[in-house]
Amino acid sequence: MAHLVSVPDDKRVSLDTIYLRPNQPFKVGVYGMTSDLKLVATKDTNWDDKVLKETKDLRLAGTGEVIGAPVCKTAPLPNPPGKKDYAASQFSFANEGSYRIELRNGINVWDWLRIACYVKPPNGIADINTKGSGTLNVHIVWATAGSASGPLPHYITVATLLFEKHGFKLSITPTTPTFSEPRIRDYEKGVVCDKNFGNVQGLAAEVAKLPQYSSGKSVVVVMANARQTIEEYKDDGSLAGQTVTSQDFSISGNPFIILNANCRSLDGATLAHEMGHAAGFCDHSGETSHVMSYGPRRNGLPAGRIQDLQKAFFRSES
Ligand SMILES: [Zn+2]
Repeated sequence: MAHLVSVPDDKRVSLDTIYLRPNQPFKVGVYGMTSDLKLVATKDTNWDDKVLKETKDLRLAGTGEVIGAPVCKTAPLPNPPGKKDYAASQFSFANEGSYRIELRNGINVWDWLRIACYVKPPNGIADINTKGSGTLNVHIVWATAGSASGPLPHYITVATLLFEKHGFKLSITPTTPTFSEPRIRDYEKGVVCDKNFGNVQGLAAEVAKLPQYSSGKSVVVVMANARQTIEEYKDDGSLAGQTVTSQDFSISGNPFIILNANCRSLDGATLAHEMGHAAGFCDHSGETSHVMSYGPRRNGLPAGRIQDLQKAFFRSES
């Protein structure tokens, strides 16, 4: 899969936030470049609610508006000899602000990073250097009948990248994140995540039977045909994930996570987001770049959330 690297050291910079001063050049390379792909600078826009309402297409509503000169200057860099399927460009931004560099195939964004362009580094930039340690352990179980892997591989890639930037390893069992037996039965028709009228309590009783749950060392993720409302026809299908906690669903053990196998968040940060809840953060961030927000392109993990993960029941020392 094509991805972004820094130049010339070839370090992966996917989902990074890069701090630049105005007019300071930044060189970014693309591995796996093809003629279908385009590297563009964009505004760091939030959801376009009007487009979201009209089209219900997350890609159209969450995409960054492309910018060019004079705000952003772009110049292609010469290809170093011997590098195949590779391209690099230099970007610089004239004004202070938050921007994104997106690698696009049509309206699909294959990879991206954030640029924080300011004379003085903003406060949140300090959090980029906050580090945790150890391994975050996740166990996947399926409550669907089908074999589609849905959004899970993307979610795992994004969570791995985001957590690794902050010193955590991510360990997933089973190691192949596709539909697998054994699975939880009798919930194929749907898991309804409504606190009063749903069937999450019953699902929780099944989850509690799993040795990976009762060991208390992993957070269990149930891949399900999940929805928010009891009447299927009324549901808009937008529920991507739900963390089941003792506070909200009056279960007795550790939190577990439900991911909707039929929904795909735009940025793929849903697993990382729900793991933040499972680690004890019940709130949401108003900062739309943060993982614990509802923003379209989330990559920020503030120091407080790193501390939550450091204390999480599903973290191990090594
Ligand atoms: Zn949430």
